[in-house]
Amino acid sequence: MMNQTILLNPGPVTLTSLVRQAMQREDLCHREPEFAELALDIKARLAQVYPEAAKEYEAILLTGSGTCAVEAMLSTLVPQFGKALVVTNGVYGERMAAMVTAHGKPLEVVTSQWHEPMNLIEVENRLIEDTSITHVIAVHHETTTGRLNDVAKLGQICKRKNVALLLDCVSSFGAEAIEFDAWNLEACAATANKCLHGAPGISFVLVKRSLFDSRPSAAASVYLDLYPYYKEQQQGYSPFTQAVHVSYAFHEALIELEKMGGQIARYRHYHTLSQKIKQGLKQLGIETFLDEQDCSVVLTSFNLPANTTYEQLHQFLKKKGFVIYAGQGGLKRSIFRIANMGNIQSDDIERLLNCFHQLSQRS
Ligand SMILES: *Cc1c(COP(=O)(O)O)cnc(C)c1O
Repeated sequence: MMNQTILLNPGPVTLTSLVRQAMQREDLCHREPEFAELALDIKARLAQVYPEAAKEYEAILLTGSGTCAVEAMLSTLVPQFGKALVVTNGVYGERMAAMVTAHGKPLEVVTSQWHEPMNLIEVENRLIEDTSITHVIAVHHETTTGRLNDVAKLGQICKRKNVALLLDCVSSFGAEAIEFDAWNLEACAATANKCLHGAPGISFVLVKRSLFDSRPSAAASVYLDLYPYYKEQQQGYSPFTQAVHVSYAFHEALIELEKMGGQIARYRHYHTLSQKIKQGLKQLGIETFLDEQDCSVVLTSFNLPANTTYEQLHQFLKKKGFVIYAGQGGLKRSIFRIANMGNIQSDDIERLLNCFHQLSQRS
């Protein structure tokens, strides 16, 4: 079946037909060796998306959305009796602070306004003042605004202070650069259905393997404890039912990523698309919400044009076959967001810009 609509929301994404067809493969029991083999293959491919990670990190597969992987990471790795420092400048950082709180773990939060960068001066000060902090927690690409956070700088601070970094890479994994050693990265969480172009239903945490032997689990949860998954997934099995059909699709999507040239090629493709979107809208007087140098290649936020509401814009574009995304919270009435992940090509963007052009002629 052809997909008529192009999804410009930050996941789930427009699938390629091969990935969609993969979900039609035969039904499989997740306790049979055929599934175990599929899971082991997905794990191996995931660990190699960033070649630097292949040797020391292990991908642990979970059935659930990106939030499931983020919460499993925080549940399992943030110590019950240490202290975590959560850095926030948007919805997803704030959600992680809420998770650590919900799990009853001690934390401090360094908060910035959503339009601002992470407050790294404050992070450094807190780390100097409080040596009981063992983990810094942050969002790589804050999808709230489309800001690619300066994790390179944050990671350097973590490395220097010998504090572990845990990252939400849900909307960056597979496209933006991630450095594992230089950032002192203990783990990062991500999902099948954003920059990796799979279907929704599977997420994963990439964890430094040596941890499982050197530290007990800190999880106060059964389903979200990564340790039993780690153990059983050595053989490709999982403690609970896995999303079998979504796994077929994910496997296919990872093969497609490799064929196109891997993460670096995907970064370049996204860069081309996002530049095209920004330049096209700029010509119509629609400006980016952030400074251009702060934007990821994955998603861009734009100021809503003066004489259009988000609902009008959304409905107009939806009729033309494009689904855009609203701002969250306080940005609901002032911005709209366009993600360019998924099976999207330059000619799709040209059609999109053409629609914006039609709209500007009407008003
Ligand atoms: C999409 C997203 C999530 C959560 O993903 P769900 O799949 O909706 O659970 C978490 N963090 C970031 C940065 C995201 O973009």
